[in-house]
Amino acid sequence: MIPLDEALAIVLHESHALPAEAIALAEAVGRVLAVDVRADADLPPFDRAAMDGYALRAGAAAEPPGLLTVIGELRAGEWPSRAVGPGEAVRIMTGAPLPEGASAVQPVEQTRALEDGRRVEILTGVAPGAHVAPRGSEVRSGDVVLARGRRLDAAAIGVLAAVGVSHPLVARRPRVAVLPTGDELVPVDAVPLPGQIRNSNGPALAALAGAAGAQVRVLGAAADRKAELAAAIAEGLAADVLVVCGGVSAGDYDLVEPVLLEAGASVFFTGVAIKPGAPLVFGRRGETLVFGLPGNPVSAQVTGELFVRPCLLRLQGAAAVARPRVRVCLLAPLANRSGRTSHVPVRVRRDGERLLARPVRSAGSGDLVAHAKANALVVIEPSRARVEAGESAEAVLLESFLEDDGEPL
Ligand code: AMP
Ligand code: MG
Repeated sequence: MIPLDEALAIVLHESHALPAEAIALAEAVGRVLAVDVRADADLPPFDRAAMDGYALRAGAAAEPPGLLTVIGELRAGEWPSRAVGPGEAVRIMTGAPLPEGASAVQPVEQTRALEDGRRVEILTGVAPGAHVAPRGSEVRSGDVVLARGRRLDAAAIGVLAAVGVSHPLVARRPRVAVLPTGDELVPVDAVPLPGQIRNSNGPALAALAGAAGAQVRVLGAAADRKAELAAAIAEGLAADVLVVCGGVSAGDYDLVEPVLLEAGASVFFTGVAIKPGAPLVFGRRGETLVFGLPGNPVSAQVTGELFVRPCLLRLQGAAAVARPRVRVCLLAPLANRSGRTSHVPVRVRRDGERLLARPVRSAGSGDLVAHAKANALVVIEPSRARVEAGESAEAVLLESFLEDDGEPL
C-alpha cells in the first residue's frame, strides 16, 4: 500500500490534458477553458453613466452647481451628439455614454426638475467622476479576463459573452466507461432475488464523473467470471477512463487486476493507505486510464471523490482539481485504528465563526444512506489513533456542503 499523497500524485501525473474544441456558449457551463481569454476592447468601452440622473461639469465638490439648462436626453444605446457646456446638463440614463464636457452624473434623487424639465436644480455638491464608470476602468483591451484552466460557471460565461467569445476553446470532455462488477448485482428497476442487491454504484459513479465534466457510459454489470469480465473490460478500454468497480479485494472472485494485466494494462498501484477504499487499483492501457474501485458503496464514493474526480478535472486541464478544505471543530470523538488516512463522513454547519462537524451515524462501511447525509469528509492522518470532541480537524467539503438544509447537527 502506498500513501494517499503518493497515489494522488501518480494519478495526476498520468492525467494528461485532452485536446481542445470550440463549443457554443450555451453548452459551455462546467467546461474548462483551454486558453487564456483576453478582452477585445476596453470595458466599459466608453465613459458610462452609472446612475439615472444628469450629466454635468462638476466643479468644487462641496458646492452645488445650482440651476442648469437641460440641453437633451441620453438613453442607453445612444451616442451623444453634442457637448455639455458650463451651466448645462443632459438628462442621462444608466448605461448611456457620458457626453463630452461632462465629468460627473448627479443622481436624479439629488435634483429637482423645473420648467417641465427644461431646467434642473442640482441640490448637492457633485465631485468630478461621481457616478461615472470610466472607459477601461474594469478591463483594458488585451488584458487576460479569464485564465486557462478555469472551469466555466455562470459568471465566467458572462465574461466570455462580454468580450465577444461566442465559441470558447475548451478541453474535450473525457469519455468515461463505468463498469460495475459482481454476480450479486441486478439493475435498478429489478426486484432483487435472495442474495442479490441493486447496482447502486453504476449510477452513483456515473453521476460523480458527469458532475466532473465527463461524458459517461455505464456498461452492464459484469459477472465475476474471467471471460465475461475480460470482454467487458475490453469494451471499456475504448474510453479515455475506465472505472471498474468491485472485484479488487482479496476474495476468490476478485478478478479485476489479473484481467487488467492480461488485457495489457500496466498497473501503477494496487492499494492505498486509506480508509475506506484501500484496495484501490490504478493503471493505464495505451491512452486509457483505468481505476479499479472497491465495490463497497461508501468506498466507491470516497475513492471516486479522492481520485477519479481530480483525474477527470486534470484531463480537462483544470487549474483546481481539489475540493475546498477547511478546519472544523469535532462534536464527537473519532477513532482511527487503521493506521491509514481515514476519511470520516460528517455533517458540517456554521456556528458563528466556527464550523462544527458531527459524524453521521453509520451502520458501517456499506451504509450508503448514512453516507448521503454527509456534506464533508474529516481527514484523520495515519499517525492519529483518536481525535477528541472539541478538537479541530481538517475536512474536505463535498458538493452538498453549499446546500445547507438548516437541520440541527
Ligand atoms: P467487492 O468490492 O466486489 O468485494 O464488493 C464489496 C461490497 O460492495 C459487496 O457487498 C458488494 O455486494 C458491494 N457492491 C459491489 N458492487 C456494487 C455495486 N455496483 N452496487 C452496490 N453494491 C456493490
Ligand atoms: Mg464483488
